[in-house]
Amino acid sequence: MTRWVSLLKFRHFIIGAVLTALSLSYLFHKSSSVDVNHHSDMINSFSMMSQLSIAIEKFMIETRHGYFMNYDPLVEAVREQKSFHQRLQQKLPLDNVDVKNAWDNYLKLTRSKLNMIETFKSHHAVLRNSQHYFPILISQLSGLLNNEGLDANEDIGSLRRDYQLLNQKVTSFLMTPGDQGINDIQKILRQLRQYTGVASKEIKPVLDDITRHVDIIISNKQDIDRSLQNVLQMQNESAIYHVRESYFRVYSQQQARANLYRLALIIISGLFAIIIFLIVMRLSKAREKLEKTVNDLNFMKFALDQHAIVSTTNIKGDITYVNKRFCQITGYRKEELLGNNHRILKSPVHDEAFFKDLWQTIAKGEVWQGELQNISKSGEAFWVFASIVPTLNEKGKPFQYISIRTDITSRKLMEEALRKEQAFLSGLTNAIGQGVYVLDAEGLCTFMNAEAQNLLGWDFEELKGKIIHDYIHYETCDGEGVTKDECPISQAVKEGEVFRSDDEVFFHRDGTAFPVSAVSVPMTSDTGEISGSVTAFSDITENKRKEAELLEARNTALQASKAKSDFLSSMSHELRTPMNAILGFSQLLEIDESLNEEQQDFVSEINKAGQHLLELINEVLDLARIEAGRVELVLEDINFTDLAYEALSLIEPLASKNHIAIELESKDDEEILVNADRTRLKQVVINLLSNAVKYNRPEGSVTLSCEQTLEQMLRIKIADTGYGIPVDKQKELFQPFSRVTENESEIEGTGIGLVISRTMAEMMGGTLGFESIEGEGSVFWIDIPLSGREAIISNDNNRVEAKEAPKVVAVSQKKVLYVEDNPANLRLVTNIFTKLDGIELVSAMTPSEGMELAASEKPDLILLDINMPEMSGYEMYDALREIPAFSKVPIMAISANAMPADVEKGLSHGFDEYLTKPLDIKNFIDKVHQYLS
Ligand code: ADP
Repeated sequence: MTRWVSLLKFRHFIIGAVLTALSLSYLFHKSSSVDVNHHSDMINSFSMMSQLSIAIEKFMIETRHGYFMNYDPLVEAVREQKSFHQRLQQKLPLDNVDVKNAWDNYLKLTRSKLNMIETFKSHHAVLRNSQHYFPILISQLSGLLNNEGLDANEDIGSLRRDYQLLNQKVTSFLMTPGDQGINDIQKILRQLRQYTGVASKEIKPVLDDITRHVDIIISNKQDIDRSLQNVLQMQNESAIYHVRESYFRVYSQQQARANLYRLALIIISGLFAIIIFLIVMRLSKAREKLEKTVNDLNFMKFALDQHAIVSTTNIKGDITYVNKRFCQITGYRKEELLGNNHRILKSPVHDEAFFKDLWQTIAKGEVWQGELQNISKSGEAFWVFASIVPTLNEKGKPFQYISIRTDITSRKLMEEALRKEQAFLSGLTNAIGQGVYVLDAEGLCTFMNAEAQNLLGWDFEELKGKIIHDYIHYETCDGEGVTKDECPISQAVKEGEVFRSDDEVFFHRDGTAFPVSAVSVPMTSDTGEISGSVTAFSDITENKRKEAELLEARNTALQASKAKSDFLSSMSHELRTPMNAILGFSQLLEIDESLNEEQQDFVSEINKAGQHLLELINEVLDLARIEAGRVELVLEDINFTDLAYEALSLIEPLASKNHIAIELESKDDEEILVNADRTRLKQVVINLLSNAVKYNRPEGSVTLSCEQTLEQMLRIKIADTGYGIPVDKQKELFQPFSRVTENESEIEGTGIGLVISRTMAEMMGGTLGFESIEGEGSVFWIDIPLSGREAIISNDNNRVEAKEAPKVVAVSQKKVLYVEDNPANLRLVTNIFTKLDGIELVSAMTPSEGMELAASEKPDLILLDINMPEMSGYEMYDALREIPAFSKVPIMAISANAMPADVEKGLSHGFDEYLTKPLDIKNFIDKVHQYLS
């Protein structure tokens, strides 16, 4: 098609070029039709015409005046003019009417002129004849007269005068143009005629001849002059002028036409030149393009030769070309291959049908592509991926085949290895008893083991290359549809994360869902990209059933636990309230100086036993709460250094009482951030510090230090110089109520602290452990996760320093309001206040009474119980704060709700202080003084 188009275009171009050339030559011919030489020849001719005409006139005048003896110059001039006219007539454009008219007019004039010249010549010949005879006759007359004698006759004397006069006059007449002297001559002639009567017979004929010749002279001279005059007066120049002008007009017209043709010639030539230029440009561009294409093709051929195994054959399969790689892979030399049939590489792996299909395809002119095994010269088999492309002639029939092959032997070997590997994997995965399937990066199934096929009801071949999600995992266990992109397995794998779940359901081919435990592991390529995933799953219907049963059992247990927790909570409150009275009053008695020594010992014993009981109650309840799962931790980033200082300050009194030195091994300004529940971590540290002090030897020491572990934990170490724990006893630690020290009865303790501490450490994501050498001491440590910021060192000026014991300050006439519904507690506090000077206590047993008292008494400090009828301590706090007068009055809570969380809650609600029952009376008094000062 393209060939035809280009052929057509070429034919058009040739026709166009021929037409343009013809029109250009026609225009050139037309533009050069004005012959400048011819024109200048014509101008010369016109001048020649005038010159010849003037020459003729000149010769006539000269002839008239007798310069010539004959008429040859004149005749010659006339002849020349005639022949000139004949020549000129050939050159003149007589096809033009004006020129022809002017020329005819001129010829007519010339013809009449010639007639006149002829007349002139004839008259002139006659005249010349008479002129010739007249002097002869005169001299003849003169001789005759002389013979007769001068005096012979008078008449003869006058005759003699007359003829002499006649001779003069005639000579003068002939010399003078015009008729001047003619009358004188006529007069003399008349006189001479008179003599003829008297003259002798010899003289008379002479006189007659003279008279006749004079007459002839007179008449012919007149005719000659007339003819000459006529010729000279003829409008010859004007006729020549008309011929010339008409010729010039024709010439000008021709010239104007030629100019037009020339202009057209210039324009068409210009256009032709532009077209030629454009064609040349296009040709040059086309040539450049062609060169580039040829270069590209050469380069592509080079690249192809570098990459591929290339050969060409004729239609019989005889090799006509092979490239270097072809020779390399087959082991044949080029000469061995050329002319040989391609079947020398044929492998027995492929049957006849395979080759039949190949030949049928390419013989039809179609491209054949496929994998082929060939045999090299050395007999080695190699695999290629071949594209055989037929080259077609004009009739669309193949005349040669180009074969481009790539060596895929290694890929084939890999495929074989892969096949074996897959068989191995199949065997392996079948053996593990779980369903396993493998997906590629697009989520298309590439492998499924027998168990997976069994569980899902699908054959691998049916799901191979399919998006497996759409067949087995299209809904959640809640029955909601899930697309592949939303699928948590796909998402995790996409992120490169391992997915584990026991909450997914897979669908069997029959549409039934079954719960699965699935693990999906992403596979990564060498470049680190996700190349697919392996999922192992098992049907956990049975597990789920058991789980449901367990859940039910757990719920039942939880309900029981809640009941236990509620019981513990109320137990805590109920135990504390009487303990408050016991401890409170025993403390009051301790400071009563009226008691004797023995009584004071008793009171001290009551107090000690009470304290121990309280501690026991606290720890048993705490442990019970932990075991019931009722303890909630608030994990946050806290500065351990601050916490350590606080714990140390709290343990300091016990340490100094036991004469134990406590040391903190840490850099001054170090801020160590850990992620923990502040209250509980402090509780654990205090417990370990108090143990280190309690189970130390006299004058011993305790060191608190910390270090970062490899697991990003902070190890808090509390080392003591005590007696240590015997190896055989060490395993008894961390059992509730287990105390391993020999003199345990002398040392206060419950055997619960370590159990609580370890549980707390573990709840905060850490651990608690110890190392102990008998006789040398023990190191107890807690590992607590460091915060995300790891250990950050900074200047911290807000470190909580060990709080100093509050100083007792004397106050005067201050009023304290105490609202408490328990009469024993109220009585205890009332008793305490009786010992404080300058402070008046007003009390109320209900919140409403308390509110009234507050309004009337305007107390400086308000003490509130929390658990009260009508209104809780919290609600009363809020009600008081709403009254402007009490917006700033300190309010203290005194409650039997003594769990750390209760204390936190009270302080965060806004209470200035939260004291727990049983009251530490000394501490209570200190606080009262603090707020009243
Ligand atoms: P408590 O100290 O109230 O008895 P703990 O649970 O804190 O209870 O400790 C359990 C037991 O572990 C203690 O009774 C003591 O025998 C032993 N123990 C704890 N810390 C030390 C220590 N630093 N040195 C020696 N023995 C210790």
